[in-house]
Amino acid sequence: ADQSLYALIESRFPRDANETLLETEDGTRWSYADAHAAAGRYARFLSDMGVKKGDRVAVQVEKSPQALFVYLACLRGGFVFLPMNTAYREDEVDYLVGNAEPAAFLCRPDFEKTARAIADKHGTPHVFTLDADGSGSFTDRAENASADFDTVACDPDDLAAMLYTSGTTGKPKGAMLTHRNLGSNGLALVESWRFTADDVLLHALPIFHAHGLFVACHCTLLSGARMIWLPGYNRETVMERLPQATVFMGVPTFYTRLLAAPEFGRTQTRNIRLFVSGSAPLLAETHREFSARTGHMILERYGMTETGMNTSNPYEGDRVPGSVGFPLPGVEARVVDEENRPLPVNEVGAIQVRGANVMKGYWKLPEKTKEEFTDDGWFKTGDQGKVDDRGYIYIVGRAKDMIISGGYNVYPKEIEGVIDDLPGVVESAVVGIPHPDFGEVGVAVIVKKADADLTEESVLAHVKQHLANYKVPKAARFVTDLPRNTMGKVQKNLLRQDYEGLYK
Ligand code: ATP
Ligand code: MG
Repeated sequence: ADQSLYALIESRFPRDANETLLETEDGTRWSYADAHAAAGRYARFLSDMGVKKGDRVAVQVEKSPQALFVYLACLRGGFVFLPMNTAYREDEVDYLVGNAEPAAFLCRPDFEKTARAIADKHGTPHVFTLDADGSGSFTDRAENASADFDTVACDPDDLAAMLYTSGTTGKPKGAMLTHRNLGSNGLALVESWRFTADDVLLHALPIFHAHGLFVACHCTLLSGARMIWLPGYNRETVMERLPQATVFMGVPTFYTRLLAAPEFGRTQTRNIRLFVSGSAPLLAETHREFSARTGHMILERYGMTETGMNTSNPYEGDRVPGSVGFPLPGVEARVVDEENRPLPVNEVGAIQVRGANVMKGYWKLPEKTKEEFTDDGWFKTGDQGKVDDRGYIYIVGRAKDMIISGGYNVYPKEIEGVIDDLPGVVESAVVGIPHPDFGEVGVAVIVKKADADLTEESVLAHVKQHLANYKVPKAARFVTDLPRNTMGKVQKNLLRQDYEGLYK
């Protein structure tokens, strides 16, 4: 039998395929049957254009129902869906298209000229446009194709999608994701988070990233549920729509922005059964403030482009602020030392994961792929953390962000936590920079409240009171904002560049 992700999704359609899958802001509804037919037409059209099983279809378009149907079309056609961050400009797109060599490129109408030049340069034969309202040369031409399309059978190990990592620590890497990877992870989430056909997910995330595309859409599609499909995150729209939903998923900034609205509280959240956060660390303080205001404990989970979701706080039981919970069903996670030996409880080391969720490898980077897996199949996440005596996993940061000062390992998150506790501090980031004596030292980069009475000396003195000397940053700097990428992740590499000359 067909073991494709689409076959799995189709097997879990609601009994009546005329049930709603998507509802947009203006009230337009698309049923499962509509999505299936659109995906069929798009797959037929792409395959008539010569796109074959295993070919990449690059997509850099605004979020729309049609954009989701393009994803489903790729699943039906056996094509490899390759979404690109809509914030990426010419140079970044040029790099990704050159790297991925897609057979077709769907772009925004205002980018068409550039997209054609990039496609010509890299031998991509087809460029189509797709606008936020669903219009464009792609839908113009594909709408006339027959919806009669036999879903192409795929093996579990065939590629379903290729997503590039967010590029937080370097150049984005293409993660090759198979039908098995995506299907197994989707089912684990449906089970862990108790999704049913009665759920309505308020969808405000972008769909070029694993969070909005896989986590949110697969939970919905694999449980016959429904989504309210917003073009993006707008706080007022989200507050207005929350009462019609049962589940909301967001990056931490979605939650801090909601909390910044004085009127936000139980009125908006009364019908929600689950709030999920991920993609970047959720401050324990945000977690607590959210529960004080709404009565809801946000469920934090941990995942990566390469692995989908690895761990989650429990649906029932303690959702611990600052922790990312337990391994999901079918996923193993461990914390190890430099020799890949598992560490005892509460000791900080490298987080490794193993399971059907873990990618096949990095696209065109066989050496890198080999490096990032142990001989017995554990994937090195690049994150560091610990496991407590109850089995809860805590992330302390990325290995690349760890500071080695005078031979000691210093974990920025610990210092950031101490600084964030100071009244008047909005947030902070501690980064390591070169130092002639210590090798590296920490610099604290701080965003303070307008009326805060804080100085470099007072901040450093406060840290000194709470932490060992070797952990105390050598300098503190105040800034108006921390640099973040579109997924809300603090770009520490940019901060390191800003301050690298401080002690040279
Ligand atoms: P790149 O790999 O290109 O440097 P990236 O790692 O930011 O970029 P993603 O795959 O989007 O790209 O992000 C995965 C990373 O996000 C994880 O490795 C982890 O560092 C971070 N992350 C995800 N969820 C959480 C969470 N709940 N708490 C803390 N960190 C998280
Ligand atoms: Mg990464």
